[in-house]
Amino acid sequence: MKAVLDHIGIAVRDLPAALAFYRDALGLVVEEPEEVASQRVRAHFIPVGESTLELLEATASDSAIAKYIDKRGPGLHHITLRVDDIRAALEQLKARGVRLIDEQPRPGAEAALVAFVHPSSAHGVLVELKQASSGAPPAKAVRSTAQRNIRYQIGDLELTSLCDGFFGLDGGSMFGVVPRVLWSPKAPPDDKNRISLATRPLLVRGVRTMLIDAGIGDKNDDKFNDMYAVERARHLDHALAEAGVSPEDIDLVLATHLHWDHVGGFTMREGNGRIRPRFPRARYVVRRGEWEAATHTHERNRASYHAQDFVPLADAGVLELVDADQTIMPGVRVQRTGGHTADHHIVWLQSGGKRAVYAADPLPTTAHLPDPWILGFDLYPVDSLAAKKTFKRDAGGETLIFLPHDPVGAAGYLADENGRPTFQLAQ
Ligand SMILES: [Zn+2]
Ligand SMILES: [Zn+2]
Repeated sequence: MKAVLDHIGIAVRDLPAALAFYRDALGLVVEEPEEVASQRVRAHFIPVGESTLELLEATASDSAIAKYIDKRGPGLHHITLRVDDIRAALEQLKARGVRLIDEQPRPGAEAALVAFVHPSSAHGVLVELKQASSGAPPAKAVRSTAQRNIRYQIGDLELTSLCDGFFGLDGGSMFGVVPRVLWSPKAPPDDKNRISLATRPLLVRGVRTMLIDAGIGDKNDDKFNDMYAVERARHLDHALAEAGVSPEDIDLVLATHLHWDHVGGFTMREGNGRIRPRFPRARYVVRRGEWEAATHTHERNRASYHAQDFVPLADAGVLELVDADQTIMPGVRVQRTGGHTADHHIVWLQSGGKRAVYAADPLPTTAHLPDPWILGFDLYPVDSLAAKKTFKRDAGGETLIFLPHDPVGAAGYLADENGRPTFQLAQ
């Protein structure tokens, strides 16, 4: 049986004292608590790498945690091991005479299946087995891992993957002609059929400091944020600050295309309502054809463009239009793909014999790896297909590929598993 440590549950009697240790003394990040009403418990999540500590605080005297503390005092309550097949795991344990609290798995949080092993069989430790629902939207704790900055070095270029939060788009729109029965196991939709997506701009530090795309930004109203399930508790400003970069440090901002989920962060609204460029010293680089399309929309592409994200750049005189594939700064080159929009381009990053690519919307998530899994949003899907084949040929092997929207990981490599193309996320 293969098992991964999912989390450790710690029963806590005095929460402020526990926070004084875990948060203040150890300096760990404690996330917003979650109330589990059925268990009469409040859980405080502390991400620690791939696993999580869960401080469990009873909210009623008849809560199982309260009873546990009365009997045994505060401390380690349970450990949770994540397994691939919980039924097979339970069979295996049963066959070896292990005492189980749950002979059959039962539904747990986040659509997972869980079952407890009796402490008498586990040397005094309450062990929970968990089978995560396949490809479920990242749980809260996993999300905090999914949105952390990750730094990569490509020769002289330092690449830092940032996150501007999450949003949701209709699953059908995200997979075009692919039926829901095929895509839903890989990208489980919510009750409004939306799948969870991240927005991941890329910070490039070389001879100059560049930002590729800038996320959704904060100019949208509540109705919009509700419709698209926008969640930006941690957003681009946090990610940049963590990377040690202030808005004034950005020299260049490069757009793959001008859709709102990529360039919403290009501008900001001032107190007086005026909208201005968010990065005061930056030149903003946009492909001319994309600019033309975004400023002359039609019924089919209008919803994808918000003029307030980019028109103020022209007004402020910081816009730089490029006409063809070219080097934007040493080691950074744009290449037109078309397909998604006529002038969508991707960004190749090359230095010291190493290579990376910001794939943008032709490869938004790992689920979009198969050639025909093309966005319904694409204006020229047959061009997308050809561009994707070319891309996969060019980006094979050692090329580090950045995905703009994957809800779990930021980057990885194309790989081959018994003749089937796969994507391996890089940590
Ligand atoms: Zn797009
Ligand atoms: Zn996009």
